[in-house]
Amino acid sequence: MTFSVHGLPVARGVAIGRAVLMASSRVDVAHYFIEADRVDAEIDRLRAGRNAVVEELHRLHLSVAQMRPNDAPHELSAMLDVHLMLLQDEALTNGVKHWIKDRLYNAEWALTTQLEIIARQFDEMEDEYLRERKADLEQVVERILRYMKGVSSPVAPPTTPRRKTQQDLLLDDTVDVPLVLIAHDLSPADMLQFKQSVFAGFVTDVGGKTSHTAIVARSMDIPAVVGARSASQLVRQDDWVIIDGDSGVVIVDPSAIILAEYGFKQRQGDLERERLARLRHTPAVTLDGERIELLANIEMPEDAPGALKAGAAGVGLFRSEFLFMGRHGQLPDEEEQYQAYRRAVLGMEGLPVTIRTVDIGADKPLDRALKEEAHLNPALGLRAIRWSLADPAMFRTQLCAILRAAVHGPVHLLIPMLAHGSEIRQTLAQIDLARAELSARGEVFGTVLLGAMIEVPAAALTLPLFLKYFDFLSVGTNDLIQYTLAIDRADESVAHLYDPVHPAVLQLLARTIAECRAQGKGVSVCGEMAGDVQYTRLLLGLGLRSFSMHPAQILAVKQEVLRADAGKLVAWADQVMQAEEPALLLTKH
Ligand code: PEP
Ligand code: MG
Repeated sequence: MTFSVHGLPVARGVAIGRAVLMASSRVDVAHYFIEADRVDAEIDRLRAGRNAVVEELHRLHLSVAQMRPNDAPHELSAMLDVHLMLLQDEALTNGVKHWIKDRLYNAEWALTTQLEIIARQFDEMEDEYLRERKADLEQVVERILRYMKGVSSPVAPPTTPRRKTQQDLLLDDTVDVPLVLIAHDLSPADMLQFKQSVFAGFVTDVGGKTSHTAIVARSMDIPAVVGARSASQLVRQDDWVIIDGDSGVVIVDPSAIILAEYGFKQRQGDLERERLARLRHTPAVTLDGERIELLANIEMPEDAPGALKAGAAGVGLFRSEFLFMGRHGQLPDEEEQYQAYRRAVLGMEGLPVTIRTVDIGADKPLDRALKEEAHLNPALGLRAIRWSLADPAMFRTQLCAILRAAVHGPVHLLIPMLAHGSEIRQTLAQIDLARAELSARGEVFGTVLLGAMIEVPAAALTLPLFLKYFDFLSVGTNDLIQYTLAIDRADESVAHLYDPVHPAVLQLLARTIAECRAQGKGVSVCGEMAGDVQYTRLLLGLGLRSFSMHPAQILAVKQEVLRADAGKLVAWADQVMQAEEPALLLTKH
């Protein structure tokens, strides 16, 4: 039966495919595809995990049997029996083997996928006793996962994820069936793992439009919907799903008519992209001759060719924290970072690369497992520059790597989330120390332009301080909106209040642009607003001449630029800023 789920649209376009459900687990589980010749090895790894847990439970059983009756509650023994029985259950073992053999999931992913399926069956049971056995099953699976985590996997996650879908997903044996991923939550690191993977679209139950998971989905340029509340509960493995990334609608089990309609929409989208592609070599100049700089936001050095292909004039934001995530606490050392920054710089072939120092914290934990240990208000906690200054040696390692990479091309060094004069001074002192350290080591390093992000209202209200110390400013509207309006950008329940054109946000933005221009300093916007065509004319009217966005958005924004008369937009932008409901004026120009 067809039904739809509504969420927040985050990445445009339409995806149609079979659902792959990613189960949430309390244990941090890696998700990757194995090579076909590793199937037996992966099943052996799983078997070893299961056997180890069986042995452990037998041992426990024995020790319980040796206890005095008063010390060993009968329930404990009964529970161990249930757990042992579940471990031998064919529905579990055969199901897991199916996901490994036919879908080429790694063992942990296969195990959690099958757990999810059986858990739903338990949920539907009438008998309360049987229903409650779900918790036992979860515990058993967790034991296996924990065991497997302790034993290193002989099959490392592939560095180049598979692009092909698996043959069992074919409706017949000749047609490729796209897969769409449905999950309760995906961390930004998970998303990165799926970059260039088989998935044609994503849906998550939680998340806001500018959550980092949504940002990575957008950078992948595939349709995605977040904040779809209970999608992962309602959709079943292999259901046919349409993801409409423009409207935020997810249609499950669509009828033939709906499928045809969305198939048409999908083709229209492809045609539109082809049309936009012709603008690649057209200079971004407004009707009244203002040259506009369109830069790219990237997450990994490997994104640089895509940025060049989209016609970016440089990288306006390299979110370096993605090099630090999902590494189980093992941070990249100076050499590894230097090589990554160098690849990005060389990849941009002489165009400037703005490397932002790590912005770990809030919705970007180092590791998914550490998320639960996060503090009460992570967005207000030890995040970004605060995190870096709390560990100066780690910070200097990154600064040294960036300064060394600057030998290979123009590099701008960008510092996130500064708010205090003391933070500025400490940061500058660390940069001096990094230079001194490199000189002492006899290491060559380059000069960099120094920039600060304006993402906290406190920074936007103390601009002279920032302009005194920095060569350029970059407005992080994602956070500026979050901190001005007190709206968690990753929380879908308050997403309707997350308003990029709230008068307070516009005023902070306008004064930052105006002050920088008045002092002849560079200023750009690198938040999601810069890549959203509904705000292009407004930002031009506010005086912005440098926009940084995902490569996939560059051509659409360029089209808006080509159609705009920047001079004429000034008075209108002023009106929008003064309006009680600025959003209402946005479409009226
Ligand atoms: C921003 O806050 O607008 C920004 C670009 O940084 P991030 O999204 O990584 O927090
Ligand atoms: Mg930010």
